[in-house]
Amino acid sequence: MKRRKMDKEDIKKIQENIFAKLEAQTKNIEGDIGFAIIQVGLDPVSTIYVGKKEEMARSLGIRCKKILLDERMGEQEIVENINKLNGSEDILGIIVQLPLPKGLNSRKILDTIDPKKDVDGLTTESLGKLFEGEKDGFFPATPAAVLGFIKEKEKTLEGKRAVIVGRSNLVGKPLSSMLLNEDATVTICHSKTKNLKEITKEADILVTAFGSPRLITVDMVKEGVSVFDIGINRVDGKIVGDVDEGVAKKAKYLSPVPGGIGPLTVLQLMANILKAAQKNEMR
Ligand code: NDP
Repeated sequence: MKRRKMDKEDIKKIQENIFAKLEAQTKNIEGDIGFAIIQVGLDPVSTIYVGKKEEMARSLGIRCKKILLDERMGEQEIVENINKLNGSEDILGIIVQLPLPKGLNSRKILDTIDPKKDVDGLTTESLGKLFEGEKDGFFPATPAAVLGFIKEKEKTLEGKRAVIVGRSNLVGKPLSSMLLNEDATVTICHSKTKNLKEITKEADILVTAFGSPRLITVDMVKEGVSVFDIGINRVDGKIVGDVDEGVAKKAKYLSPVPGGIGPLTVLQLMANILKAAQKNEMR
């Protein structure tokens, strides 16, 4: 438990350092920096995440235009809204808050975003660039934040055995490409994986992104593992991760939940928006 408390202070320092860097970058960019978030419907969790993005943008002096659309809105109308933002000169980045209400084609909607404004890195073009190992694209915020965090903690990833539990397009799959690009040896597990424990026990770096409270227990990891817990689960009104706190007994590092990857993700998103602004300045 003590170790976990220390880790919280440690991650706070990392967050403060990133914030200071972003603040300095913002001052170096001439003119107004603006981006848009489209939220479809009033899902309470999405509303909280959108609020956090707006708040962070405000504290950095970045303008955020929030567009709230009715959840009964059809694909075509959402696409039209994105197209308007694509054509708007004062909008440098576009985010569509996920998940979208059931029945909407997320892939079609995301791929409407102009790749130059794809600060969430989720268009097919951005994901393709990541897959190719290109450095100039936008990378999805959560896995990019996790990679940055892992690199703060590990001197090198070369040859390390990395195990990711969860294969979503939002987290697990892009993170696997990022870790491969860093020369780690990567295994991805999912709900059909057999003998999960045998695989997680081999990990030097274990990333959990599957969303089941405290499923990874101390018997499932080896001594000295670094664990990065992305999971956000609500249990009895509390937020807990995918990893049981008992894992701290064996782990070299265990990231805290809440207060770990969530804030880093929002910072990474701001970094992507600043990247869009810098690219725009060079055009
Ligand atoms: P998805 O539901 O899209 O994907 C979950 C993945 O986990 C799937 O690949 C699924 O397998 C796998 N899975 C589910 N149950 C198990 C299990 N028991 N054993 C092994 N694999 C399992 O979730 P997301 O990727 O969007 O999110 C994952 C978690 O991360 C959630 O808790 C979410 O709240 C959190 N999250 C946190 C963020 C942050 O900023 N901190 C940002 C984004 C997500 P299969 O493919 O076979 O169904």
